[in-house]
Amino acid sequence: MKKRIVLYKALSPDLLARLQAAAEVTTVDLARPDGMARLRDALPGAHGVLGASVRLDASLLDLAPELEVISSVSVGVDNYDIADLDRRGIVLTNTPDVLTETTADTGFALILATARRVVELANWVRDGHWRSGLGPAQFGSDVHGKTLGIVGMGRIGEALARRAAAGFGMQVIYHSQRPKPDVEARYGARRFALDELLAQADFVCLTVPLSAATEGLIGRGELALMKPEAILINISRGRVVDEQALIDALETRRIRGAGLDVFVQEPLAADSPLLRLDNVVATPHIGSATEETRQAMARCAVDNLLAALAGRRPANAVNG
Ligand code: NAP
Repeated sequence: MKKRIVLYKALSPDLLARLQAAAEVTTVDLARPDGMARLRDALPGAHGVLGASVRLDASLLDLAPELEVISSVSVGVDNYDIADLDRRGIVLTNTPDVLTETTADTGFALILATARRVVELANWVRDGHWRSGLGPAQFGSDVHGKTLGIVGMGRIGEALARRAAAGFGMQVIYHSQRPKPDVEARYGARRFALDELLAQADFVCLTVPLSAATEGLIGRGELALMKPEAILINISRGRVVDEQALIDALETRRIRGAGLDVFVQEPLAADSPLLRLDNVVATPHIGSATEETRQAMARCAVDNLLAALAGRRPANAVNG
């Protein structure tokens, strides 16, 4: 008998066909108002699930006692309680590597957009304010030659370091749990304690996973250590930053600006104070959101799922 899969992420026809050849597939559209109710209805009897951006907590997992594998279309696995999955004997897989370069591009887009005030000034032109030459009121700050502080020197951190050192002549400093001699040799990066990095960097870019250790890593005290002209970039997870402390720091111009792809609550509420600030560039969690990379992530997730259901160890097993 074919195994049962629940999909809560749309797949391209070729990938869907691969899954349908191997299993009985139920598709749930979470964008519908009754999406979560449909997911609950689909879970009983499921052997595998594939999707992203849903917290599969114990109450949902209890509905799927036969579940063997969760294939997450993401590299971050903060939506899952891995100890609980271990107890239940469920394999969790993710999609690292294929999104690294695209997410680093997003980080650099935010660095450039905030420093050069791209969004603010593009809107200024659109609103008809460009009537004569520019003055200091429209000037931004340089990116090239500055110091980039990377918090979390993993795959994405290293891809950022490469862009910064090779493309923009920046000094790279980083904070990570373990030293990264290869990154130091390749990009001249230097490792610092977090406090020292915050005090030295012109751009602080967060690329740590969300965990008990990193939740609230950047709070009021850490923001107070940053230079007044420094810019915070967050492409990791919203909860790594104390968002209210950041709003306060931005409102009082304690720091120069922030480029944010991730937020404590997503989607970000339209009335968030962050959206009233002209020194904030906010993007809707687009880190990996290009056609090519989302397709590569989906393919990777399908490979992981099919391997697990066939009794093989998936290439990207997070646990087990
Ligand atoms: P990764 O290769 O695992 O890199 C994460 C790095 O963070 C690791 O090198 C690790 O250091 C470091 N780290 C972990 N805990 C730390 C701590 N408490 N203090 C300091 N450093 C710590 O992961 P990745 O592929 O680069 O992805 C990183 C994160 O980016 C993901 O988990 C996800 O949340 C986020 N992300 C966001 C988007 C988006 O759409 N915005 C897209 C992709 C990924 P050690 O190596 O020293 O242990």
